Amino acid sequence: MRPKCLFVFAFLLAFSSTYGTYAAAEDNPFKHAFPQPVILIDAGHGGIDGGTSYGDILEKDINLEIGRRLYLILRSHGYRTILNRTGDYALSDDNRWLRSRSRHLRDLAQRKQLSEELPSEIVISLHVNWGKNKSKRGPVVLHQTEGRSAILASSIQNSLDVLYGTSSLPQVGKPFYLLNHVDCPAVIVETGFLSNAQDRAMLHSKRGQQQIAEAIYGGIVQYFTAI
Ligand SMILES: [Zn+2]
Repeated sequence: MRPKCLFVFAFLLAFSSTYGTYAAAEDNPFKHAFPQPVILIDAGHGGIDGGTSYGDILEKDINLEIGRRLYLILRSHGYRTILNRTGDYALSDDNRWLRSRSRHLRDLAQRKQLSEELPSEIVISLHVNWGKNKSKRGPVVLHQTEGRSAILASSIQNSLDVLYGTSSLPQVGKPFYLLNHVDCPAVIVETGFLSNAQDRAMLHSKRGQQQIAEAIYGGIVQYFTAI
């Protein structure tokens, strides 16, 4: 099945015939006609794949904590949201259909498949950065070579920059499998550098994780008002 993106008109028609139900709304005929699109949060890594680390601080745990918080914030504001993992496991464990010996490839393919099976409007993939230069700090948001993804990235980048007191430009994430294989606007949010003491304190504290989740939420809201 083709990847779904609810702003694609052809898909809207295909989806309505697949799912049948059609409730007419007064002003906008599409307003209530289709299942509401969802925001897919991808909590990067999991299970034996810990991502980057500093001592016993693991990227996978930070991604999951921020992901959970972002999920709760979005849900509390009425956004339909899916968090692709709620515990510490690798998505490749669920992947029975791709007979690849590479766990990493199965894991990435599973993330892509999830976004295709759900009528995702946007995909937010959470990660943590690492730099050899320990003074390097701040959030970096990576996007696809596509307009809406770039708008989403700059909205989230600006919002996180305010929180971190930094100013960076979002970047095209060319080598990233997820960005290259998901058709809906998707971004990778590198929430900060685990190699930097100041960022690490933020990424590792409950308060910091909550602030980061709120800043990402602010960026998502900004995106929906901009498009
Ligand atoms: Zn990562």
